[in-house]
Amino acid sequence: MLSDWLDLSFEGKTPRSRTGGPANGRYRLLGSGMLELVPNTPQPEAYSCVISAGIHGNETAPIELVGELLAALETGQVRLGAPLLILLGNLPAIAAGQRFINTNLNRLFRRDLEESGPEPDRARELMATVDAFYARHQDHPPLHYDMHTAIRDSRYPRFAVEPYGEGPPTEENQWHWLAGAGLQAVLHQHCHSWTFSHYSRHYHGAQAFTLELGKVAEFGHNDLTALRPMSELLKALAEGVLPASAPPSRMAFFQVERELMRESEDFSLCFAEDTPNFTEFAPGRCLARDATAGECRVGNTPLAVVFPNAEVEIGARAALLVATTPPPRT
Ligand SMILES: [Zn+2]
Repeated sequence: MLSDWLDLSFEGKTPRSRTGGPANGRYRLLGSGMLELVPNTPQPEAYSCVISAGIHGNETAPIELVGELLAALETGQVRLGAPLLILLGNLPAIAAGQRFINTNLNRLFRRDLEESGPEPDRARELMATVDAFYARHQDHPPLHYDMHTAIRDSRYPRFAVEPYGEGPPTEENQWHWLAGAGLQAVLHQHCHSWTFSHYSRHYHGAQAFTLELGKVAEFGHNDLTALRPMSELLKALAEGVLPASAPPSRMAFFQVERELMRESEDFSLCFAEDTPNFTEFAPGRCLARDATAGECRVGNTPLAVVFPNAEVEIGARAALLVATTPPPRT
């Protein structure tokens, strides 16, 4: 049943049984696109793991990774050793092959959310489910990997965004695991942004990341070879054993310096629309022209551009401007 769950979820169907057992554990459907797996005997090193995919509906590679993980659990190739919550974010958008239906789900994960509509309602469901899951499994530290793919090319196709947090710093072992999983870069956020991974870090103190795993493609057209080490990391988390590790210095580290905001109707970026993420611009280079804010130019140190999008609403972020930073001392 576990391997059918994905397809049934997309079709909006409920599987015949809502509970069952993979080898050495139990699963339970908590709602549409929400599956909890609990081991009979959790491993001492295990985290309470939230693995989410499809927060943007057209980002399919992460959903295929979830499918591989569930198949491995079902056949017993992976022995469940950690509490696991698998979440599919925006089911109607996944079914439609679109990023979202009405609005970007990945900015709505805040407890004082007042908006209404399909995406805000789904954000509330997902937040409540995460809260209850971490509360049920308090004897294991919380962890959340929210998996995405990017719209554009990238100098580093696989990178992690570390959400901003005022609590303890991210544990050292996370950098080793991400390097071991073939991630190529890390971007430290500089302020609160109400993404799903930020939710788990901000409200639960989880080890949490948004993982960008290559470029958007349709189901069946993803290059899963490059994601093999990431798939192994997910399996190790599910088993509750130590994942493969590599020196964090293999990854490039960046810090967000500032956000480039669109402030007027008459707004344009000064570089090509298909410029890859992490493209670096030299001091003095013009990055954007805005009728209200004027020109945005690079200051004394080079800046790289991530997630540029001139088509955002007025008042929204049109790009992140980032600078290189040393790897965390480990
Ligand atoms: Zn995404």
